[in-house]
Amino acid sequence: MIRISALAAAVKPSATLAAGAKARQLKAAGVKVFDFSLGEPDFPTPRHICEAAEKAARAGQTHYTPASGTAEVKAAICKWYKNFHGLDCAPENVIVSNGAKHSIHNALAATVGPGDEVLIPTPYWVSYSDLVRMTGATPVLLPTTLASGFKLTPEQLRDALTPQTRLLMLNSPCNPTGTVYTRAELEALVDVMRDTDASILSDEIYEQLIYCNAKPTCVATLRPWLKERTITISGASKSYAMTGWRMGWAIAPPAVVQAMDTIQSQQTGCPSSVSQAALVAALTGPQECVVEMRAEFAARREMTCDLLQLIPDVKLLVPDGAFYAFFDVSAYFGRNFGTTTVTDSVSFCNTLLEQAHVNLVPGVAFGAEGFVRMSFATSRDVIETGLGKFKSWLATAR
Ligand SMILES: *Cc1c(COP(=O)(O)O)cnc(C)c1O
Repeated sequence: MIRISALAAAVKPSATLAAGAKARQLKAAGVKVFDFSLGEPDFPTPRHICEAAEKAARAGQTHYTPASGTAEVKAAICKWYKNFHGLDCAPENVIVSNGAKHSIHNALAATVGPGDEVLIPTPYWVSYSDLVRMTGATPVLLPTTLASGFKLTPEQLRDALTPQTRLLMLNSPCNPTGTVYTRAELEALVDVMRDTDASILSDEIYEQLIYCNAKPTCVATLRPWLKERTITISGASKSYAMTGWRMGWAIAPPAVVQAMDTIQSQQTGCPSSVSQAALVAALTGPQECVVEMRAEFAARREMTCDLLQLIPDVKLLVPDGAFYAFFDVSAYFGRNFGTTTVTDSVSFCNTLLEQAHVNLVPGVAFGAEGFVRMSFATSRDVIETGLGKFKSWLATAR
């Protein structure tokens, strides 16, 4: 028998992917499922981006590239940061990976290990704590509440810092809560970090999906000293509907990029050559596609919030960014749906899926028991009908 390693045993499967799998089984059995579980845009990748990949493949760009990405893609990323955020970065600050998740993993592998603490405000994106654990470092969870807009406070951060703290992970706009920190709030947080040895890993993958007046903030631009202390993560998956192309990146000090480059060269060789050509087209080509997709997400968000706010005992914080509604359903815990008593977010979601064929993700996967996450990256038709079914199902609670 082949034994399974301690590393593999320490990692939980991604809860969002697991929720998708259960719904797929039902769908395969012919059941119409209202699926709000998967975190990816439902739009096709814009045509000009696909065409750039096609052209690259035909032109023979089908070989290994440098481990950290081509010169063209790094130049495109630097130019995009200058235009979008006013951030000056050079190619030696940039590494392209197989998706932002891969960038986060390699950034953590390059900077933390056993004995180190990584601060993660909760609710957090499902993968953060497992990615930290895979390096041997310790995730330290900092709970935030709906009442405070799911925002970490400077006092909370100050109290959590220890000599072992190596990194603070930030994610604004946030998956799952949709929370967008203001520039002033982020400044107050980073200022707490200033006289420590800790740095910041800022996952900004939803920076182009903000629906309120708040402007996207690139944490690295907040203070001059942050350029040396910040690893900025982003990617094409969410803004350009490119999840399957696996294009993410990190902007970091050259020594960190160098370490990630070495890891990546041993681990995956390089990111896909044709995907890199597609990413150049995404970042340097027409940006109307982003505006159009954002407008559609904004309309769905409004519809989602309007419908959820009509449901008794559901507590929602209106999301300012990303494409999720994260709401408190704990008022229904301890109640019966048919012969099943719902006791927590997992049994709530399982029972909902079985009885009403509506698929949500349990909040416990994001470190927030009592809540569920609904992705509104699906058609308005599915949102309207699915939330109607959800409301009727909740009304059956006894
Ligand atoms: C989707 C997502 C990612 C990863 O996206 P990739 O497809 O790996 O680029 C990273 N962080 C957050 C918060 C996400 O929601």
